Amino acid sequence: MSEQFDLVVIGGGSGGVRAARMAAGYGAKVCVIEEYRLGGTCVIRGCVPKKLFVYASRFHDLFQIAPDYGWSVDASFDWPTLLANKDREIARLEGIYGDLLAGAGVDVRADRGVIEGPNAVRLQNADEVITTRRILVATGGRPVKPGIKGAELGITSNEAFHLEQLPKSILIEGGGYVAVEFASVFVGMGVDTTLTTLIYRRNLVLRGFDDDLRQELETCVRGRGLKVRYESTIVGLNEMPAGVGVDFSDGEHLEFGAVMFATGRAPNVDGLGLETCGVILTPSGAIEVDEYSQSTCPTIYAVGDVTGRAALTPVAIREGAAFAETVYNANPTTVDHSMIPTAVFTEPEAGTVGLNEDQAVELHRDIDVYIARFRPMINTLTDRQDRMMFKLITLRDGGRVLGCHIIGNGAAEMIQLLAIPLGMGASKADFDRAIAVHPTAAEELVTFKAPSHTYRNGERVA
Ligand code: NDP
Repeated sequence: MSEQFDLVVIGGGSGGVRAARMAAGYGAKVCVIEEYRLGGTCVIRGCVPKKLFVYASRFHDLFQIAPDYGWSVDASFDWPTLLANKDREIARLEGIYGDLLAGAGVDVRADRGVIEGPNAVRLQNADEVITTRRILVATGGRPVKPGIKGAELGITSNEAFHLEQLPKSILIEGGGYVAVEFASVFVGMGVDTTLTTLIYRRNLVLRGFDDDLRQELETCVRGRGLKVRYESTIVGLNEMPAGVGVDFSDGEHLEFGAVMFATGRAPNVDGLGLETCGVILTPSGAIEVDEYSQSTCPTIYAVGDVTGRAALTPVAIREGAAFAETVYNANPTTVDHSMIPTAVFTEPEAGTVGLNEDQAVELHRDIDVYIARFRPMINTLTDRQDRMMFKLITLRDGGRVLGCHIIGNGAAEMIQLLAIPLGMGASKADFDRAIAVHPTAAEELVTFKAPSHTYRNGERVA
């Protein structure tokens, strides 16, 4: 039997669209099924609108220090203007995604795709079954809320992009990327921070990041007015006339303008029909795939957040491209998930690539750690006390750089560039050979002299 398509992609986000375009470019007949909007989480309700919000929130800090640089600013913030402009830009990008797919000759269906067999997908609304040689699942993930009383009264990042009004105060639960980024955004937009803004069940945000980076970021965000409540959870929400009542695990009760859950994301696998083809899921509910993104059903592949490997847009894009390269260009390609640079778009930013200190000691035993903390130059004419931090972790005595962690303005841009030498296996000596650019903050990276501390045979010695 000959199928209608070579490839049906379920999910028109970053990973699915990249795979579809490349596969079509290699001559495959491709269909993309998307039930919401082309662009996926990143473009529609993730990275892109978030970064636009981050830009908006940063004017707050600039206006605060403007008088120290001789400027008088009479500023006010209009939430509806930001929302309308953001929506216009997202619609423009969505259109570009559609144009790119059309230009590549990909058939796009606005529908929900449900797998009916290894070579069949049902378009649920059209009530039509299409046949295909292969299926690529790129359905991403969705925010999850804890199963507490009144959870429906809390929003997630999905709704945070469309709030009709900026809440007077907000409580955000979680300690990951989404929680700290949105907390930072809302502080910058001027929500009332008299009450707690962030609540986290452990005692320091960004678990898994380098401990010095976590500490330094915490000091910075607290200095900016953000109140954090640690070792506490929300146990219940109640509707109140002007907002949401919150019951805390320690028995306290407070009222907020809004409550947002940033308590993680789950892979979108529900109702996809994966069980009809014997597709095995991981214990966390993601699609289990091999190094070529092939699931346990040979005709079904999966890329991006739905596979639970690394929930980051550029990783999904790489996985989508590697899939197309492997399957449609006879060029077996895998993705290296070991050295992924990443940034947290708080104010100030955090950027990280490679191993954190604990991982480096555990793996290599003999390492040197270089740390610089200082007030960035822009703060010198102001009374702002927040500091930058540069941390380099290397093999002992000028050896290979294993990890780099930065707090401060521009950390995201810097870490992108640092991913190149780290991926090439650059040593501390290579960094030392580079001539500094002055006056910059990043010159710290090439002017480190003695380590702040070292480890020998796994023991901290200096
Ligand atoms: P994360 O998994 O990073 O963080 C979830 C947080 O919620 C953790 O701090 C977790 O605590 C806490 N949590 C989980 N369940 C509960 C619960 N029942 N009660 C209370 N707290 C709970 O998820 P995010 O949504 O922040 O981000 C999802 C992914 O999206 C990230 O992993 C990242 O890959 C990606 N992302 C990347 C961004 C970027 O690159 N800048 C920006 C935003 C998202 P604990 O630490 O104890 O597990």
